[in-house]
Amino acid sequence: METLYLSAENPDTAVIAGKIIQQGGLVAIPTETVYGLGANGLDEAAVAKIFEAKGRPQDNPLILHVSETAEIEKFCHSIPEAAYTLAEKFWPGPLTIVLPARDTVPKRTTGGLSTVAVRCPDCQVTREIIRCAGVPIAAPSANISGKPSTTTAQHVRHDHDGRIDAIVDGGPCRVGVESTIVDLTESRPRLLRPGGITPEQLRSVLGDLVIDKAVTAQIDKDAVVKAPGMKYKHYAPACDVVIVSGSREKAAAYIHSHFEASDRVLCFEEELPLYKDCAPLAYGKESDVSTLSAGLFSALRILDDPGIHRVYARCPIGEGVAFAVQNRLKKAAAFHIIDAEAEV
Ligand code: AMP
Ligand code: MG
Repeated sequence: METLYLSAENPDTAVIAGKIIQQGGLVAIPTETVYGLGANGLDEAAVAKIFEAKGRPQDNPLILHVSETAEIEKFCHSIPEAAYTLAEKFWPGPLTIVLPARDTVPKRTTGGLSTVAVRCPDCQVTREIIRCAGVPIAAPSANISGKPSTTTAQHVRHDHDGRIDAIVDGGPCRVGVESTIVDLTESRPRLLRPGGITPEQLRSVLGDLVIDKAVTAQIDKDAVVKAPGMKYKHYAPACDVVIVSGSREKAAAYIHSHFEASDRVLCFEEELPLYKDCAPLAYGKESDVSTLSAGLFSALRILDDPGIHRVYARCPIGEGVAFAVQNRLKKAAAFHIIDAEAEV
């Protein structure tokens, strides 16, 4: 199969990509979070192709992308007022809301669940593609399952060239980590995945928010969890990733004393001078967490190299978007964290 490359700037792109979706094809779509691998979310056969292309476990549901809030009524029922308030405040944007699913949504899209995740992305060309297709686009991140997510069209080309119908190039993703997921199907709102919309922002609207334990801890593969995606290995390069926490000085001392020739250091730009002899790679500025979220997956992809044995990574502390970066990096490291302050 020859993959068609379409620029978001080309005025015909939405019509062309929309038609491919309508006809049951696979299109990689840009969003403000990460690139998604999209198909008609109401077409079982089209959705099956996403799982096949990614090598994604069947019970890991997809997100249904809509072009405006009103569309969710076709796919969800018993929608609480809070969903509309969140949509009003944060859509289009990096927030996914889990709601009870209508029968119009195939089980393949929901991974067999009775709930469905919906989101309106903050990306004009993608909303236009959804409008042209006339159907919601089901999409997970476009990466091969288990690998770091795709935040540029080049990442998608690397993973899927010749295996999907089209890639829409909308440039690098602004946020760089996947959407925040909030579940509104229980008595209390629950954060299933942190992202560009922070827990503080959600609480300011909802007044209450439970943080699911899968956000901060390793989940057993056989566990029953609210978001099945959380139990799988995620975001990881081929080598071991070890997070080294603690002050700059203590972390550098620990890393220098353990570093071997085939290792790499993933750090903040401010720390580059500390690791001159350790092949450092900076993924953004510690002083500006949005650069860390935007740069994390590109960096993890560079480090996905069979010649690398181990990556020592520095992780931002604090709340807000840093919480999402911590979550992705800890998952990439399979929660292997060394506290340099406690080392002698
Ligand atoms: P991805 O953005 O590639 O991680 O894929 C979509 C994510 O949304 C996965 O982590 C899923 O587990 C999550 N998700 C999709 N639908 C649901 C749902 N109905 N309930 C909980 N989580 C969901
Ligand atoms: Mg993913």
